[in-house]
Amino acid sequence: MNDKVCLPRLSLGCLGGTVSMQSGLPGHGVTPKLEGRELLAGLPLLGSLAQISTATLCLLPSASLSFQVMLDVLSWARREVEGGAQAVVLTQGTDTLEESAYFLDLLWPFDVPLVVTGAMRPASHPGRDGPANLLAAVQVALAVESHGRGVLVVLNDQIHLAADVRKTASLAMAAFESPGWGLEGYVVEGRAIYRRPPALRKVLPLPRGREHRVALLETCLDADSALLQSIPTLGYEGLVVGGFGAGHVSAVWAESMARIAQDMPVIVATRTGSGPTARATYGFAGAEIDLVSKGLHMAGDLCPRKCRILLWLLIGLDNQAALPGWLAARQ
Ligand code: ASP
Repeated sequence: MNDKVCLPRLSLGCLGGTVSMQSGLPGHGVTPKLEGRELLAGLPLLGSLAQISTATLCLLPSASLSFQVMLDVLSWARREVEGGAQAVVLTQGTDTLEESAYFLDLLWPFDVPLVVTGAMRPASHPGRDGPANLLAAVQVALAVESHGRGVLVVLNDQIHLAADVRKTASLAMAAFESPGWGLEGYVVEGRAIYRRPPALRKVLPLPRGREHRVALLETCLDADSALLQSIPTLGYEGLVVGGFGAGHVSAVWAESMARIAQDMPVIVATRTGSGPTARATYGFAGAEIDLVSKGLHMAGDLCPRKCRILLWLLIGLDNQAALPGWLAARQ
């Protein structure tokens, strides 16, 4: 019998990003160029691990991905699994990977692993990490132990949960961390090794509405509130504020946010990069006790960017009422 027939089926979807970037003319910067089959060509070993079908879904820097592109990517990945794929891997830029992976995770209905990877060094640069990351991502996606964990992010031989991972360095090779939670697992000699069993997952249905917008603002010292006050008049339907410390804003912002919260859900997260928002420690105007009494939602340790994605999906389902339940899991 042909050995290939016994290999598991894996679908590779490529979206662009540094992993696919090369320079064209000398002196010009790198841009996304490599299609899926070209990424595979550099890694013949993959052919002995799985029957891989590739699709170049777009060739974008990840700053230009959108919710609509990610919904299209999700439909493609779902069709692949429904058609018999036993694992799915996506390559994309690392700049928005923490957001797109969480977006997909909230909507990924299967136990089958969906693994997202990328690279910090362009494909045309010495010491490029794309091939090693792609190999590790495929190995993780094919591991039975990866089932039921939702969307996983694999870079630098580390496995992160989509809900926890953040890009914490601009150019370093070790650019991803899961503050407070740590790694879900790591890759050693081609094996995915997990530090904990899969947790229970909650998944959302596909959003029906897609035209709405959720704003994300960050507090800073001596911030005026002109932008904040204009949020409702600009047509936003939700607001996330990356607050100081444990989820705090100035007294002036607290007043504006209380008014906005009468019309739309407002979430206060921490801008610090790790740790949860407080619940019952600080009593000043603009601190958590005041903000909660004004009808605002505290994010727990969900980062501001992921809060925006969660809120966008819930508004798209007209199910804002579910927001406290989702955030409670992060307190
Ligand atoms: N620096 C980015 C990357 O790592 C560029 C992008 O996100 O597309 O891929």
